[in-house]
Amino acid sequence: MGDQVLSRVVIVGSGQAGVECAAALHHNGFSGSIIVIGDEPDLPYQRPPLSKEFLKSVDDSPLPLKGEAFYPANGIDLRLGVTAERIDRTERELVLKGGERLPYDHLVIATGARNRFPPTRGLDPLRVMELRTLAHARLMTAKLDGLRHVTIIGGGFIGLEVAALLRQREIAVDVLEAADRLMGRVLSPLMSEEFRRIHEGMGTRLRLGTIATEIAAEGDRFSVSLSDGERLEADAVVVAAGVVPNAELAADAGLDVDNGIVVDELLVTSDPHISAIGDCAAHPNPYGIGMIRLESVQNAVDQGKCVAARLTGNARPYDDLPWFWSHQGAAKLQIAGLAMGMDDAVLRGDSASGKFSVFVYRDDRLIAVESVNMPSDHMVARRILAARLSIPKDVAADPASDLKALMPKPAR
Ligand SMILES: Cc1cc2nc3c(=O)[nH]c(=O)nc-3n(C[C@H](O)[C@H](O)[C@H](O)COP(=O)(O)OP(=O)(O)OC[C@H]3O[C@@H](n4cnc5c(N)ncnc54)[C@H](O)[C@@H]3O)c2cc1C
Repeated sequence: MGDQVLSRVVIVGSGQAGVECAAALHHNGFSGSIIVIGDEPDLPYQRPPLSKEFLKSVDDSPLPLKGEAFYPANGIDLRLGVTAERIDRTERELVLKGGERLPYDHLVIATGARNRFPPTRGLDPLRVMELRTLAHARLMTAKLDGLRHVTIIGGGFIGLEVAALLRQREIAVDVLEAADRLMGRVLSPLMSEEFRRIHEGMGTRLRLGTIATEIAAEGDRFSVSLSDGERLEADAVVVAAGVVPNAELAADAGLDVDNGIVVDELLVTSDPHISAIGDCAAHPNPYGIGMIRLESVQNAVDQGKCVAARLTGNARPYDDLPWFWSHQGAAKLQIAGLAMGMDDAVLRGDSASGKFSVFVYRDDRLIAVESVNMPSDHMVARRILAARLSIPKDVAADPASDLKALMPKPAR
């Protein structure tokens, strides 16, 4: 599937994955046309700052993924504010809203995800706040000044980042989390427990194992009934209860979909002329167990590059090490690897000092390292995990041990 047989690659989705794929195609010398279709009107931007620096700053300019001039200068036809409605696989055409048909030799689906709204009685998506797009972040920043008491539904990364920012403004915050621990989908129980302490230290009221059963809104006031029988009064409700992949375009075209658009290790869907990347794609990840769907910048960027490499003649399975980060108040969390199926974890460093790491194991093998304000542990962990090496638990737990000495030596 090299450059010689492809003259037109169409990418649906102008987020991190789609833009990275387009840029990498050009970088790899692809000489055909590259078209990126995105339904958001804004120049493609970075989402992570929306729940971090952006919500703190007074000026509301997002961080662009690339400057405006980048796209024409790199042969990328970027079409913003345009929705792809249907894939005609027989004709190999992408049908846009309004009826225009875009022929493709290869189609890359990079449609990302949207926020999930729990089936809470009375929850009106138009009255609560959410954070996925620049438009959502602008709405939230516009309201911040008047807020006194906020209820956040969801104790995952985004809900907790927002909670920490609200506490910095001395806004009272309740976080409702259905599971019995914070960020439970991603973190080890040991690190979840550390973050419980960190957020309670900031004055956030955490309500674990609790869901909102009903939301009643009157003007700017919300009354949130909880599963434990309590009721909270709030002047805003933020829904941060995870995402659902935007997989309808693929499903309607008859592609395999199961918690995301199903792809193989080359990131090809059940149609060899269509790939899927980023938050919308369920892929076999060699660092995980079974099919997984990751929601991270690393995954979006590396999958974009992986598909671009295949389309320019350098096919390779997707096997990049997953890594993530999150900023919650003074705690800068970095994660290398995936904690899925973990059965043990050891602490390195003194958590009371605010600088520590948790080394996570499955069958006595290191599978992930979660670090708080310890970038050096994170960087070492990335090198060690990517080289498929492990660290004995007693060595990991001993803060005097030299982890750098265990890193693989660079090839000469
Ligand atoms: C507030 C926030 C904070 C985050 N913080 C971090 C972080 O700290 N670290 C980290 O690693 N990750 C973070 N993430 C996750 C990370 O931003 C995402 O994993 C990444 O942006 C995924 O990129 P993507 O291109 O797959 O999807 P997206 O960025 O969602 O892009 C998909 C694009 O496709 C568009 N689209 C969908 N359907 C169509 C259609 N039919 N036609 C045209 N366009 C369409 C969407 O509107 C969207 O613009 C954060 C996400 C959010 C929302």
